[in-house]
Amino acid sequence: AAKAAGRDRVHLFSPGLRDAARWRMDVANRLRDGAQDQFVVHYQPVVRLDTGEVEGVEALLRWQHPERGLLGPDAFLSVAEETGQLIPITRWLLHETTRQAAEWAEQGLALRMAVNISARHFSAETLVRDVRAALRDSGLAPEQLMLELTETCVAEDPTRAEDQLAVLQGFGVRVAIDDFGTGWSSLAQLMALPIGTLKIDRSLITAAERLAAGGTGAVLGAIVELAHTLGIRSVAEGVETADHLRMVREAGCDSAQGYLLARPMAARDVERWANRVSD
Ligand code: C2E
Ligand code: CA
Ligand code: CA
Ligand code: CA
Repeated sequence: AAKAAGRDRVHLFSPGLRDAARWRMDVANRLRDGAQDQFVVHYQPVVRLDTGEVEGVEALLRWQHPERGLLGPDAFLSVAEETGQLIPITRWLLHETTRQAAEWAEQGLALRMAVNISARHFSAETLVRDVRAALRDSGLAPEQLMLELTETCVAEDPTRAEDQLAVLQGFGVRVAIDDFGTGWSSLAQLMALPIGTLKIDRSLITAAERLAAGGTGAVLGAIVELAHTLGIRSVAEGVETADHLRMVREAGCDSAQGYLLARPMAARDVERWANRVSD
């Protein structure tokens, strides 16, 4: 595996309670006043475990804060969601990431672009329109775009979720269930849905590690096997150590993502990283 490159140095932000309230106010104000211009996207490679090749990247939102430096989603995402700003931000992000993926494809670097979609956006009328507009404007092949949805997106209204997924699949976009293992839905519930990929949450990787004391995680293996039976690919998240990598490989995961393989990084670092790996 390649060494971690192009580190994204996000500032950890853990204010006290009173400061937290003040911070949330400040974020809300700044978002209202157009701080959206200060958002940037970092990309974390997803690596195939059979060939070691990079198959795609996940787009992760960052805020280049004028005073605080580069901030990760923990510092602002929940405020953006509450104030209703996350949908317009994601609309921008869909345009930016599909444009970037199309540009890479032109350079011969075909990377599937994965974008996180909030539950609120998923249940909004605009999602389908937003996705379609981004694809049209960028010219990106729909199969090269993957939407990452959490279990809560589909749990709230499964029937509507199925319809929404069918529409998205209708124009060729791929769909993944994100953070699998953190919610309460079972694979049986999820298998009714047209999803292509299961992203297995980091907490399941570390739990499997504890249970198996360094051996193969039987639970992990069972999940992956059931997913495969249903024709669903699996991506292990949060692979941080060589032990994790060995474990998820033995469990049969198709791909992996994590600090051991690559950190989230700026677009130009992705190009450098991908070229170095293929050398
Ligand atoms: P996520 O979708 O599960 O994204 C993966 C998170 O795990 C990222 O954190 C990534 O930097 C981190 N990560 C990757 N590899 C490792 C590892 O080996 N170890 C550990 N400990 N962490 C690793 P990040 O960028 O801070 O994002 C946190 C969450 O914020 C994301 O979790 C996602 O739920 C949300 N998020 C990020 N960008 C967006 C966005 O554009 N839209 C929406 N709706 N949510 C977003
Ligand atoms: Ca995700
Ligand atoms: Ca995840
Ligand atoms: Ca997660």
